[in-house]
Amino acid sequence: MRFDVLTLFPEMIESHCSYSILKRAVENSVIEVNTINPRDFTLDKHRKVDDTPYGGGAGMVLMPQPYVDAYESVEKMPNSVTIMLSPQGEPLCEKIVKDLAGYEQIICLCGHYEGFDERIREIIKPREISLGDFVLTGGELPALCLIDAVSRKLEGTLGKIESAEDDSFSDGLLEYPQYTKPREFRGLKVPEVLLNGNHKEINEFRYQQRLLRTKARRPDLLE
Ligand code: SAM
Repeated sequence: MRFDVLTLFPEMIESHCSYSILKRAVENSVIEVNTINPRDFTLDKHRKVDDTPYGGGAGMVLMPQPYVDAYESVEKMPNSVTIMLSPQGEPLCEKIVKDLAGYEQIICLCGHYEGFDERIREIIKPREISLGDFVLTGGELPALCLIDAVSRKLEGTLGKIESAEDDSFSDGLLEYPQYTKPREFRGLKVPEVLLNGNHKEINEFRYQQRLLRTKARRPDLLE
C-alpha cells in the first residue's frame, strides 16, 4: 500500500510514521509513505501557497495552482483513490477503513489555514473524509489517523501480539475488558473465569462482556 500525502508540513507525517508499529510496517515494506509539499510547486519567488479570500473574511485560503500541480506530479497507480481530509466529508469509520484497505494507493490531500480554494475540489474531485464534527488546524492529523487505521488492516503490519481480530468494531461490537498482571490491584481482582484456563468459558465470558459493554456504551451499534 502506498500513501502519497500532499502537505505543507511533511515532517508531521514523517515523524509519526517513524515510530512503533508504523515504523515496522514501513521497514517491512507493507506500506510506503511519501510526502509531497505544494510549496515546492509554487511559481513565485516567495513560494506563496495561500492568499486572502475573495469576498472578504478571516484567514488564508490555499491557492489552486501549487496544490493542483503538486497533485498532478504524483504518479497514479491503477487501483488508486484520492482522499481530501475535510470537516465537510463523510465521517471516518471502520467500514470506510476496510474499504480503503482494498486500494494499492491512497493519495491524501491535507488542507491548512481556512482550507482549500473550491477549484481544487472541482479539478481533483476527491472523496472527502472527516475525522468528526469538529475543526482542526490542518489535515495532517486526520491523514495520519487514516494511514494508521488502514495500515492496521494490512497483512504484515500487526504481529500476532497486537492482533486486531477482537478489536472494537471488527465485527460490530466493542471489545471485552482486558486484564494483565497482577491478579489483584488495590483490592480489584481479575475475574476468576480468566484464570481457569477453560477457553470455552473464557470465550463465552468475553462475548457476554462485549454485548453488555456495547449495549451500555454504544446501543446504536447493536441496532
Ligand atoms: N474552513 C474550513 C471549514 O469550515 O470547513 C475548515 C478549515 S480547517 C481550519 C483546515 C484544514 O484542516 C482543512 O482543510 C482540513 O484539511 C483539515 N481539517 C480540519 N478539521 C478536520 C476534520 N474534522 N476532519 C478532517 N480534516 C479536517
